[in-house]
Amino acid sequence: MAKILAIGIATLDIINLVDSYPDEDSEIRALSQSVSRGGNATNTLVVLSQLGHECHWAGVLINEPDTQLIHDDLNHYHINTSACRVLTNGKIPTSYITVSQQTGSRSIVHHRDCPEFAFTDFQQIQLDQFDWIHFEGRNIEQTKMMLEWLAAQHPDIPCSLEIEKPRTDIEILFSSPSVLMFSQDYASHHGYSDAETFLQSLPFHMTASCSWGNKGAWLSTRGKIIHSPAYPPLQVVDTLAAGDTFNAGLINGIINGLSIEQNLAQACCLAGQKCGQQGLANLTTVDV
Ligand code: ADP
Repeated sequence: MAKILAIGIATLDIINLVDSYPDEDSEIRALSQSVSRGGNATNTLVVLSQLGHECHWAGVLINEPDTQLIHDDLNHYHINTSACRVLTNGKIPTSYITVSQQTGSRSIVHHRDCPEFAFTDFQQIQLDQFDWIHFEGRNIEQTKMMLEWLAAQHPDIPCSLEIEKPRTDIEILFSSPSVLMFSQDYASHHGYSDAETFLQSLPFHMTASCSWGNKGAWLSTRGKIIHSPAYPPLQVVDTLAAGDTFNAGLINGIINGLSIEQNLAQACCLAGQKCGQQGLANLTTVDV
């Protein structure tokens, strides 16, 4: 069991399933609605907690009624929120998601009135209690300062960085993390049509993964690139947060000292398990 801290955001996701996407200026009824907690770093922690680790989240919480659902979900998974900054004014980041049953497309309106977790907040955390620190690739300038501070003050604490969206200047974060976790979206945005060629383009010393949906994932370490196929479930039910689950699997495998081949395979297996169910409950490691 390791003590893991993740820095990032928690969101409220309000998901309306509709028969087909509404025309502008029209009114339709949703077929169903679900409300859940989202956010990459918190998703990864929810999985890591179920794999037996002590998980802490550092982010910003707004003291408003919609935050209760986020609190309840994080409490349910024993995620410690004492490192969070809590504000009285603002609005928790909220995604209003319309899913069209006809096409499967998701259209999202995102609203937030919430500052990002800052370097000065990060400096308040007693970091030497943690075995691993995971960062979301966002809030670039402040995250850069956090990574530099961590490398200077606690060079022995390993850390990972998740790079999901291509954001301006995100590359300035790549030099210090122990592991970089890239998405297909990032690689595709930079003109790569496969993960292996993308990983080959990175500097030799970087340890990096790149997941690629139902094609599985690739991992590069000291110039060696390996691949694991995906482990498809009997039926693909929900792929939202598959990448966050995969990242949790990788972190868990490194902490447990697995070989890179075993680690990549079990991370894909865990992510495949997630794709066969709604949400992130009851995920467990499996021998592959
Ligand atoms: P993201 O959620 O960031 O888009 P990916 O789609 O790359 O991430 O998925 C992460 C991992 O989840 C993949 O490497 C794969 O192992 C697994 N996965 C994703 N989609 C499927 C699928 N349709 N069937 C089986 N496994 C999947």
